[in-house]
Amino acid sequence: MYGIDGLPEEPDDLSMWLDVAADHNPLVAAIRAALDVHASVDAVQYAGSRQIPRRVCTGCGTDAGNWQVWPCPTVRAITTALKARPAAEEADR
Ligand SMILES: [Zn+2]
Repeated sequence: MYGIDGLPEEPDDLSMWLDVAADHNPLVAAIRAALDVHASVDAVQYAGSRQIPRRVCTGCGTDAGNWQVWPCPTVRAITTALKARPAAEEADR
């Protein structure tokens, strides 16, 4: 399904669209590269004896030195501009 701007609405479809478009347009290649830097990865936060699963950004951290929860501000800015949802690796949908 495509949105009113012609971009795919589903995160996986948008990711494939960006891959193909990046071969033909350097601006799309730059967006694709930025999203690759800010990919998601599953992590575990240790809070005392508890282990809390978290999805964090591979390219960001917080000022306190912790992982940045994904989607990070960079991914949110890009996906908001594209009017798309972030596409996480193995995202729960
Ligand atoms: Zn990030």
